[in-house]
Amino acid sequence: MNTCRMPLGSDRGATQPVRGASRGLTIEQTMAEMQCSRATVANLRRQAGISDRPGRKASAGRNATRHDARPILDKPATMPPVSHPALTEARTLYPSTVVPVDGLRNLLVSGQNSWKVGAVVTKGRWKGFPIFTLTLEERATCPTSCGHWRSCYGNAMHMANRIAHGPAFEERLGHELAILNSRHPGGFAVRLHILGDFYSAAYVDLWGGFLDRFPALHVFGFSARWNRTDPIARALLGLVMERWDRFAIRFSNAPSDECSTVSIEHPVQKPADAVICPAQLGKTDNCGTCGLCWATTRRIGFVRH
Ligand code: SF4
Repeated sequence: MNTCRMPLGSDRGATQPVRGASRGLTIEQTMAEMQCSRATVANLRRQAGISDRPGRKASAGRNATRHDARPILDKPATMPPVSHPALTEARTLYPSTVVPVDGLRNLLVSGQNSWKVGAVVTKGRWKGFPIFTLTLEERATCPTSCGHWRSCYGNAMHMANRIAHGPAFEERLGHELAILNSRHPGGFAVRLHILGDFYSAAYVDLWGGFLDRFPALHVFGFSARWNRTDPIARALLGLVMERWDRFAIRFSNAPSDECSTVSIEHPVQKPADAVICPAQLGKTDNCGTCGLCWATTRRIGFVRH
């Protein structure tokens, strides 16, 4: 349960959303600053007469999510201060959202709950696959070399459950994938990891074993582990090179023009060989309606936000 650390009854709590809006901050960024829920910030903004410009609507129908699509081009970027303890302690800004597996009904959550991901793939060779997501704790599972150590988008995800990683998580994960494999024999996709990363070479090997055991399983996502001095990265590089068709994990900001991503601060910085994520530009709704990440090995650019 997250608590709002700002005294909301006070003048300071009530006026912060107004100051945030005057600085051009979105609800998400004000939530991160105040460490309050979306409902609290939205209420205070409403009370202050601030209207929130709606984003592009997600398409109705089988791939609609619970949330509107949100192209990021009008969003200002914010980061926690360098002195924030979460950055030195290698943890999320929101420790109360790290949940042991016993406290969760499902580790793998329908992509319907994520505006970026979508419920089902609607095009390409994975067409018809339902999508599920897995969220670990950011920074606690990531290499310190990650280019988004401070600007991690988990900073704005105050409500997301982060699964506590370890043996109990790994055992449950195998059970849930077995169930999905029998429910969706034609194929299903798992997006790794909404937050967090591969945290051990054994965990990478576990995914290799899952690919062998569950033929319907297909994986896509991103990892900051690509430095060959890191044994986890070496295990991951091997698995991706061997199984890309079903294990399309891209290496974030890796010095490679294939199976990688590049972070840019503005679309004019796009390298010639890269393509900018169409969902960020509002050209498609979500990963389900896009599919670029697993359809091509071409480098994909993401605008920092
Ligand atoms: S390029 Fe497409 S598949 Fe990849 S993250 Fe963006 S929307 Fe999702």
